[in-house]
Amino acid sequence: MTTRSEREKAQKLNEQHQAILSKLLRQEDNKYCADCEAKGPRWASWNLGVFMCIRCAGIHRNLGVHISRVKSVNLDQWTPEQIQSMVDMGNTRARQLYEAHLPEDFRRPQTDQAVEVFIRDKYERKKYYDKEAVAAAPVSITSTACLSHFKFWFEQIKYKLAGFLLFI
Ligand SMILES: [Zn+2]
Repeated sequence: MTTRSEREKAQKLNEQHQAILSKLLRQEDNKYCADCEAKGPRWASWNLGVFMCIRCAGIHRNLGVHISRVKSVNLDQWTPEQIQSMVDMGNTRARQLYEAHLPEDFRRPQTDQAVEVFIRDKYERKKYYDKEAVAAAPVSITSTACLSHFKFWFEQIKYKLAGFLLFI
């Protein structure tokens, strides 16, 4: 059983997370799906740190949770860890990372089938991935799998979230 103050705390945290997500969605690149560029994405892959449309979210789900972890921006509850991942990455940075070697004349696919091939190439086969950029990624992205870093990392999240909230 949860106490009233615990519920209030959880609600407050949820409101803070929603405010951060709304703010992120107002950034230029986050106004379009990271994969097909459809307008107004309302879904996200929190481990990849990208915002996307409902169609691409469905394709991401099919990739499996070892590649992409999908959440609704508005309908799901978010943890500080998941929010931090979106703050650290976002569509601009993800494009630099996952589309680094996309050919200049590449035309973004639009049919469901072609989009799925593109998404699998992009995240599963990492066909366009910038391997050198990983070394420069923030600590919180590279150490998410490492439990021994978790406590330290969680302190960093709280610190970073506090800093981030000051700018809202
Ligand atoms: Zn899309």
